[in-house]
Amino acid sequence: MAIQRTFSIIKPDATARNLTGKINAKFEEAGLRIVAQKRIHLTKAQAGVFYAVHAERPFYDELCEFMASGPIVAQVLEGEDAIATNRAVMGATNPADAAPGTVRAEFAQSVGENSVHGSDAPETAAVEIAYFFSGLELVG
Ligand code: UDP
Ligand code: MG
Repeated sequence: MAIQRTFSIIKPDATARNLTGKINAKFEEAGLRIVAQKRIHLTKAQAGVFYAVHAERPFYDELCEFMASGPIVAQVLEGEDAIATNRAVMGATNPADAAPGTVRAEFAQSVGENSVHGSDAPETAAVEIAYFFSGLELVG
């Protein structure tokens, strides 16, 4: 597998509990390099565009409210097989199903407030990175 980039968010439940450093340590221990990072506070409309793929799901409104409820840390992670590596570090969407040692097993509060987002494919990673960062902000 080649070097790849993926998009990551440390969600409001995690920034509220001051967990940015602990979560970043897990990424770095897994060989992922943080090549861009910024702390921002999304509006609900901006969260809605980011999660538009879920617009028809019953949890969409609540998800957008949550993502706009406090600061997030938006990141680009780079490394070998970064999309799959990051998803392995994150753990399953529902923390009840997340493997021990994963971010969600250790830190997530519920299936909604689950501490991190990670892209699920190269195409979505490219779109998500471009939504948050310009090329000049990606520093490998
Ligand atoms: N989500 C939720 N309820 C659900 C499923 C998902 O609130 O039943 C939220 C949760 O925050 C999740 C996000 O919607 O991280 C996006 O869902 P997805 O299925 O893409 O999970 P992920 O890729 O984040 O593991
Ligand atoms: Mg997803």
